[in-house]
Amino acid sequence: MATPLPTFRYHPDPLATGSIVKSDAECEICCAVRGYRYTGPAFSQVVDEVEAVVCPWCIDDGSAAESLEATFAEPEGWDDDVRLDVIDEVCLRTPGFHSSKRPQWLDHHGDAAEYLGRHTREQLATRGPDAVQAAKEAGEGDTYVLFRCTDCSEFLAYVD
Ligand SMILES: [Zn+2]
Ligand SMILES: [Zn+2]
Repeated sequence: MATPLPTFRYHPDPLATGSIVKSDAECEICCAVRGYRYTGPAFSQVVDEVEAVVCPWCIDDGSAAESLEATFAEPEGWDDDVRLDVIDEVCLRTPGFHSSKRPQWLDHHGDAAEYLGRHTREQLATRGPDAVQAAKEAGEGDTYVLFRCTDCSEFLAYVD
């Protein structure tokens, strides 16, 4: 039986968002074929983006971020009331995502929000009226990056 994917508190369904896909490629960190690979970005100080085959387990245990000297989300621009260990968990141990602009991880109530993926207007409607309202407040656009607060369940969005 296949090993279940690790659970990411701030990215609950990385298969649905497309940040993790099935793959027979060998992970460059643990050198194992785990059946899945990460497709999102890895940002480094040295080069803008690192290209590497990374499995979800090496993201989960922090070894991928450490070996690549990279982050999977932007460590800058967080609200002052978000704890550093939360920012570390998102940037170093959570699969990130591609967007047209530099991806921004939203926060609410002093905690990082969970990433739900990029949504078209039609896809937003399937999330219910609160998600549609959050997108409306974010402004005009075709695609929205959608998050949900893990505390109060409020939807948060920005235009991609
Ligand atoms: Zn690995
Ligand atoms: Zn909240």
